[in-house]
Amino acid sequence: MPDLCELRNEPMSATYDLIVIGTGTAAMTAVSRCRAAGWKIAVIDERVFGGTCVLRGCDPKKVLVGAAEAVDLPHRLLGKGISRETAIDWGQLAAFKRTFTDPVPASRERRLADDGIDAFHGRARFRGPTTIAVDDVALDGRHILIAAGAAPVELGIDGEDLLTTSDDFLELERLPRRIALVGGGYIAFELAHIARRAGAEVTVLERSDRTLAPFDPDLAGWLVEKSRELGIDVRTETAVEAIERNDDSFALTTVHRNVEARVETNLVVHAAGRKPALDALDLAAGGVDVSDGRIELNEFLQSRSNPAVYAAGDAAEAGPPLTPVANRDGRVVASNLLGGQRTPVDYSGVPSVVFTLPPLAAVGLGEREARDCDFDVRISCQRTPDWYSSRRVNEAAAGFKILADGASGRLLGAHLLGPGADELINVFALAIRGGLTTNDLMDTFFAYPTSASNISDMLPSI
Ligand SMILES: Cc1cc2nc3c(=O)[nH]c(=O)nc-3n(C[C@H](O)[C@H](O)[C@H](O)COP(=O)(O)OP(=O)(O)OC[C@H]3O[C@@H](n4cnc5c(N)ncnc54)[C@H](O)[C@@H]3O)c2cc1C
Repeated sequence: MPDLCELRNEPMSATYDLIVIGTGTAAMTAVSRCRAAGWKIAVIDERVFGGTCVLRGCDPKKVLVGAAEAVDLPHRLLGKGISRETAIDWGQLAAFKRTFTDPVPASRERRLADDGIDAFHGRARFRGPTTIAVDDVALDGRHILIAAGAAPVELGIDGEDLLTTSDDFLELERLPRRIALVGGGYIAFELAHIARRAGAEVTVLERSDRTLAPFDPDLAGWLVEKSRELGIDVRTETAVEAIERNDDSFALTTVHRNVEARVETNLVVHAAGRKPALDALDLAAGGVDVSDGRIELNEFLQSRSNPAVYAAGDAAEAGPPLTPVANRDGRVVASNLLGGQRTPVDYSGVPSVVFTLPPLAAVGLGEREARDCDFDVRISCQRTPDWYSSRRVNEAAAGFKILADGASGRLLGAHLLGPGADELINVFALAIRGGLTTNDLMDTFFAYPTSASNISDMLPSI
């Protein structure tokens, strides 16, 4: 086994078939395919190797969600066959989470070394159209893949440096008594639900008039209702204007409809959005054009201005910033690099889930989008607290909105809230991606009693 330190910043040669910036999902997917084709590859990362999903995103977060579930279900079934509440031991949970994240960087480095890929630690930036500098080392590549992920947007508020990020939240060894989340997107709600189940007082501060903006407004509203019932203080039309430190706490100045207020808290988390992490790359030096903070790419994820350069995943932001998209982008880039038939990206039917308790999930078109597309939109929408699937686990926050095209019968979109929504959405994703009709779904046998066995009662009549 090579000493990992020996692999650092010691190029065997400075010329590569492919130089990859990043070691996350998009990068590794492209790297493994191009390496299998015999390409000489260098990868660069300024942080420990592994990327967001496994180290600072989906995976560690879902470990924490698992603990929240272990508290939530007994709480809901208290007096319904369950006699005791459970509680989260945050220290133990943090240690359990680390069993997933701690081994990742070394195992990723080992995998790269075993595959004969040169690994560089440091910040990458362009020094020419096909030259990348990592600190003092210059690397030349026939092709360059930007898979640098995303970073929190700057908020431009006083005391911005006092904000922590979701990275820090997922690393907490102790849970503060009070937590304020700036922003009301999916990450804010997920962290809020975890922290609340672990006993924290949580405030979500959203500048616009609605939270969870890309999700269906009706279902998002039902989730906000549920969040408030849990004691999460969700405030919309509330802009955070400044943050000040007071000993071991923070004071936030907020403005709601021109009225100023203060929120006292022990931790302030930036959950107000992320953007492609392009600032450090000096893309101008590489002749890579950017507009509105995004690399100008063609449908093959290739830079329009510098054909040697491709981008994938959150850095490309060609599709939604989600792991399955990063993975698909990596495959598309590899296939386009390796030649043969050129593969365009196609982001139809990408499901997205808010891993709250209960989860909110969506795939396909929203109601407004579907109407704007001139479909003969048929909708079936209902809250389902009385359905067996909700009552069985005593969860009243449940419902759905399903959209289909009356002319063709094809499913256009599915929006779900409730226990099992995070898994059920995949059935709808398959249906939408496969162009299935409501009749196809009616005709399918689903195991009973499962979340999918509700599908026949959810479909709009055509
Ligand atoms: C808290 C959180 C929860 C999430 N939960 C989910 C979820 O449940 N499901 C889901 O699908 N998605 C989720 N996501 C999104 C998902 O994690 C990302 O879409 C995905 O990881 C993006 O992968 P990527 O390969 O594009 O970039 P990343 O995995 O972010 O990798 C980019 C890498 O590039 C490196 N880098 C950046 N700039 C430079 C530079 N100049 N030089 C050298 N290295 C550089 C970074 O250090 C990083 O390691 C979540 C994200 C967050 C933050």
